[in-house]
Amino acid sequence: MKFSEMPYARPDMDSLFKQLDNLTAQLQDAPDAQAQLEIFDAKDKLMSRFNTLSSICSIRNTVDTRDKFYEEEQEYLDGQYPLVSEKVQAFNKVLVTSPFRRELEEKLGALLFTNIELELKSFSPEIVPLLQEENRLSTEYQKLYASARIEFMGKTVTIAQLGPYKQDPDRTVRKAAIEAEGGFFDQHRQELDELYDKLVKNRTEQAKKLGFENYVPLGFIRMGRNCYTPEDLSSFRSQVVRDLVPLTVKVKARQAKRLGIDDFKFYDNTFMFKGGSAKPQGTPEEIMAAGRRMYHELSEETGEFIDLMLENELFDVLAKEGKAPGGYCTSLPDYKYPFIFSNFNGTSGDVDVLTHEAGHAFANFIADRTIPVPDNRWPSMEGCETHSMSMEFLTAPWHHLFFGEQTQKYELSHAEDALSFIPYGCLVDHFQYEVYSHPEMTPQERNETWARLDKMYRPYLDFEGLPFYGRGAGWQRQMHIYQSPFYYIDYCLAQVMSLQFFALSLKDRDEAWKKYMDFVRLGGTKTFIGLAHSVNMRSPIDEGCVKDVCTATFEWTEQHLVE
Ligand SMILES: [Zn+2]
Repeated sequence: MKFSEMPYARPDMDSLFKQLDNLTAQLQDAPDAQAQLEIFDAKDKLMSRFNTLSSICSIRNTVDTRDKFYEEEQEYLDGQYPLVSEKVQAFNKVLVTSPFRRELEEKLGALLFTNIELELKSFSPEIVPLLQEENRLSTEYQKLYASARIEFMGKTVTIAQLGPYKQDPDRTVRKAAIEAEGGFFDQHRQELDELYDKLVKNRTEQAKKLGFENYVPLGFIRMGRNCYTPEDLSSFRSQVVRDLVPLTVKVKARQAKRLGIDDFKFYDNTFMFKGGSAKPQGTPEEIMAAGRRMYHELSEETGEFIDLMLENELFDVLAKEGKAPGGYCTSLPDYKYPFIFSNFNGTSGDVDVLTHEAGHAFANFIADRTIPVPDNRWPSMEGCETHSMSMEFLTAPWHHLFFGEQTQKYELSHAEDALSFIPYGCLVDHFQYEVYSHPEMTPQERNETWARLDKMYRPYLDFEGLPFYGRGAGWQRQMHIYQSPFYYIDYCLAQVMSLQFFALSLKDRDEAWKKYMDFVRLGGTKTFIGLAHSVNMRSPIDEGCVKDVCTATFEWTEQHLVE
């Protein structure tokens, strides 16, 4: 069915809540495992219907934000979600205490129970007022960020609109753009410091109320981390500092040389080539057609997938009046369809939609068709990002269809970006680890901590004389630090996995694709580490993994340098 033909009507919430209550009561009274499994199934069907309608509504709301009908529907549903979670949690509570748990685990998998138990540990009705306050503070940050109107070169621009100037071939323009951006954050210094201070105190209080020492273990649970500890991540970060940072220092020295700059500064950091970054060639229609050809040639499964997407209007990628900004991949569970939303803007980001976002969508497509229990379809965040980031590398033989003569430039910057991203992501994680371990830190101490850690992870950066960045406050423009605590290292772990697939594909393309398919087919039936080990790959946390895959990638870049 085409997306435009999918019917939508507001879900009957009273009836949904009543049915969920009934199922919870039935689960409690069920005489055996078989009966409980049937009830579990009925709950999944009910939720699948609700989730499908929610997705249709939210997609249509973002595709045209001017459409009043879907705007009101979205507002209505936003108010219902917490109530739905409460009902599902009540159901789950009964499920994990089932006297037939062993038999249930045989059918549903033990991981599903582990995950529910983690989720239950992270919540108690007692912290609801704190959660509401946390939401409010997080929204306030978002509003402040979005409210930025910066005077720049005779124009008034938003932070996002400053982006292209930060990539300008003229160094003085890049510097001025960074200064203008920093100026905005400096002007709002007190608000930004206070907001974060309140968030840290709030989250710490939640943790204490739930019986944790501080927010570190609670933040871990909230991210669904079920197979490694904070100590494991600390060891991962140390490996990055020891084995990868020396390589990124070389990458950046090479970049400076390429640009003809002998005093490399922060405002040169994302400017990769004298002639600018690689851009896709051709119209959006040609890019989509290239994507179709690429997935047909890659494998039978990806061919089926891309046809389904294109024939059922499951891509909405052209920038249009009224469309919400950004991009995402979501799913329509009743139809077993993924959906991709984006705003093409003529940069290499357009190709990412067909590699990265399509990687998520492809994993969704496979899981919907092979894994019966919805809770087992998606792995945790690092697993999902492994699907997408690896697809970016495994589609390399077809990138020339998008970039033409600029393909080599694209491949080089793609690999270089991956290498230098990992230490940055670790910096974001390490900083938060310090902050939540020492919630009493003052704003000044937080900035000092960031600056100290930054030197460890990005020793090549020079912030001298810059507003905002120069005083160690650069972390305040990383939204995740305010809005999604501890959500970032996932990208680093996934990036290492993707480089592992990349390194393997350089040796044996077929073997790399086969392993990737095995990884994807497992969906969320295993933990992240379990997934890696199940397909005979190393987990990024395994000692030596960072070193080997990053060295292989670095060596590849050395052999593929372009100006
Ligand atoms: Zn992603």
